[in-house]
Amino acid sequence: MLFGRNKKNRITIADKKIEKWSYSTCGYCSTGCSIEIGTNKEGKPVSSRGVANADVNQGKLCLKGIYEHELFESAGRGNTPLIRNDFHNPWNESSWDDATGKVASEIKRIQSTYGRDAFAVVSTGQILTEGFYTLGKLTRGVIGTNNYDGNTTLCMASAVSGYKRSFGSDGPPGCYEDFEHTDCLIAWGSNLPEQHPIIYWRMKEAQEKRNFPLIVVDPRVTMLAQNADMHLTITPGTDVILQNSLMHVILDEGLEDQTYIKANTNGFEDLKKEVEKYDPTTVAKICGIDEDTIRHVARLYANAGAAMNIWTMGINQSTHGSDGVVGLNNLSLLTGNIGKKGGTSLSITGQCNAMGTREWSSCSGLPGYRTLENPEHREEIGKFWNVDPEFFPKKRGMAQTDIFPAIETGEIKGLWLVGTNPMTSMPNTARIRKTLEKLEFLIVQDSYLDVETTDYAHVFLPAALWAEKEGCFTNTERRVNIVRKIKEPYANTKTDLHIFNAIAQQFEQSKKMKFPDKPADVFNEMRQLSKGRLLDMSGMTYDLIEKNRGIQWPYTEEQAKKGIAPPKGGKRLYTEDGVFSYLDGKAKLIPLPFINNNEVPDEKYPFWLNSGRLVEHFHTRTRTGKICNNNKFSPTPFMEMNPDIALEMGIIHQSYVRLVSRRSDAVVMVMLTHRVPRNMVFIPFHFFDCVNRLTLGLLDPHSRQPAFKQSAVRIETINQEEAAKINKEARKF
Ligand code: SF4
Repeated sequence: MLFGRNKKNRITIADKKIEKWSYSTCGYCSTGCSIEIGTNKEGKPVSSRGVANADVNQGKLCLKGIYEHELFESAGRGNTPLIRNDFHNPWNESSWDDATGKVASEIKRIQSTYGRDAFAVVSTGQILTEGFYTLGKLTRGVIGTNNYDGNTTLCMASAVSGYKRSFGSDGPPGCYEDFEHTDCLIAWGSNLPEQHPIIYWRMKEAQEKRNFPLIVVDPRVTMLAQNADMHLTITPGTDVILQNSLMHVILDEGLEDQTYIKANTNGFEDLKKEVEKYDPTTVAKICGIDEDTIRHVARLYANAGAAMNIWTMGINQSTHGSDGVVGLNNLSLLTGNIGKKGGTSLSITGQCNAMGTREWSSCSGLPGYRTLENPEHREEIGKFWNVDPEFFPKKRGMAQTDIFPAIETGEIKGLWLVGTNPMTSMPNTARIRKTLEKLEFLIVQDSYLDVETTDYAHVFLPAALWAEKEGCFTNTERRVNIVRKIKEPYANTKTDLHIFNAIAQQFEQSKKMKFPDKPADVFNEMRQLSKGRLLDMSGMTYDLIEKNRGIQWPYTEEQAKKGIAPPKGGKRLYTEDGVFSYLDGKAKLIPLPFINNNEVPDEKYPFWLNSGRLVEHFHTRTRTGKICNNNKFSPTPFMEMNPDIALEMGIIHQSYVRLVSRRSDAVVMVMLTHRVPRNMVFIPFHFFDCVNRLTLGLLDPHSRQPAFKQSAVRIETINQEEAAKINKEARKF
């Protein structure tokens, strides 16, 4: 193909001889972009493009989506099951029957020796919803351990917990279309251009049309902060104080929406009493934002016709993560900004199917936002699955962040990890390494054999990747979209659904239950269980989902029968005629007293350690570390450091330093930039043996999510040759 008239500077694009474009949904982040994969005559995926008439991305893809077709044959994929008795030994190749047989016999041995809960399962936000639902059925209904969670505890647990506390249920109430209606947007600890580039594009387009104020709350000058009208460089860990102070101003100046508060909420008087303590003059000294700015933002927000809060890990990954989410919900409720166009409290989710696991995996309860604590829910699911409801625990067991300490103390002896890599993603990885070494039996199920955690495994189950299987994802705005199968599973890999079913069949209990092997049959079970629930999707079918480029729930069977077409977008929860999920239909305004319990810099460890994402990479680089352009643009970890303090310390750009925390140390290359203040350093979290060697990860008491972003470190200079050697060794691919 030839573009342009200037023959001297002709740009040619290689003809990839694409025979067919097939629909799917991007498998990286929770934006949920509709993607088409081009395959050649031999059926080989050779290109990716955005789907033009998809409401979410309108033909666009980010750097990760553009190269997604390269994933299928990327380096490091597992190609057959592997077994060994000791993780120090080399692997032996195995058949699927032997591998799943070994998994089942070890689960049975551990449970009969130490008790049902001595075996734990930790899943992911990456697999298809049909896989999540089936894993939940297997774990809750067959294996019967209560120590079952997802790695979403590291990213979204605080949002889930905060929504449940405020509204009585999880479920983000807003949608992307809200950007097109809002009159004021506050982004809390969210760097959209790097984390969710296509959501950023939607927000930016809307802002350019309507010129609403964008206020960014973040201690670092992120890309989003660079584009903001106001940037509030908050002291880490003090978001709740700022939220209380904004509410203080709103109530002090009578800017709240009393009609909305009276009709839709409980707890106003208690909240008012608490926020009275947070006058801007006092708060300014704690959170580092001057009092006039606090007042100005409060007025901008409360006087806007419609105002929205969005947030990501800056709020969630904190000891006050759940409170931070409740604080944002409080702000929205006080000003009547829930359920209306442009007025919302929207958590921007992380992984492509973090929402799917929240809805259907049974990690924190039972499917369809049901809880273990509710006897009716246990009864309902027991009947549907043909499991005695008494078999279910009566309250939730351990979260992922409690499972690892329980391995340390010997309470848990066996662990099954599905699509997650704690050796890179958990805080304090030196401790995680020792923990994994203590396990009697570790199963790693992943598409890649070279994930760091596999070094400690006894069985490796190679899973088919993303569009080597069929099923659904749910995105940030509750849109269920379909991943169509583009090609057969690689080598001797199997779909997660197949693996879960094969393991279920090894247990007597599964004989009286149904474990459908077709994704559409599993989806039908979910549709039935969703009827009448907040997440009702009984009107959806795979074909309808594809035709509409994803459908937001709720979309009911009645609507489908009446021929009501699914909305293109713009579907919200708790709209004016709607009710919240508490029994009385009202939301809760919850007072949030602040206790400063984080690790903070001191004389010995004088720098804040902050972490976050890069646009090129996804999570622990299991995939993007193997994709040529993603890795080329960002091949090595680095540490952002303020040039003024670096000058004082004699540290130069692109030299190596040793960072030391109370946990461990890490060698990292310095990048001098004024993005960070003098007392802070920032490191991307994607790299093995790097930032999470240093993090403390104190836990939020409600959500059990770790505080990745509030640790203290010191910087030491280091011999450059030695440092380069250490760095090279740590980064073999
Ligand atoms: Fe995929 Fe997210 Fe990029 Fe969209 S924004 S292409 S969903 S990684």
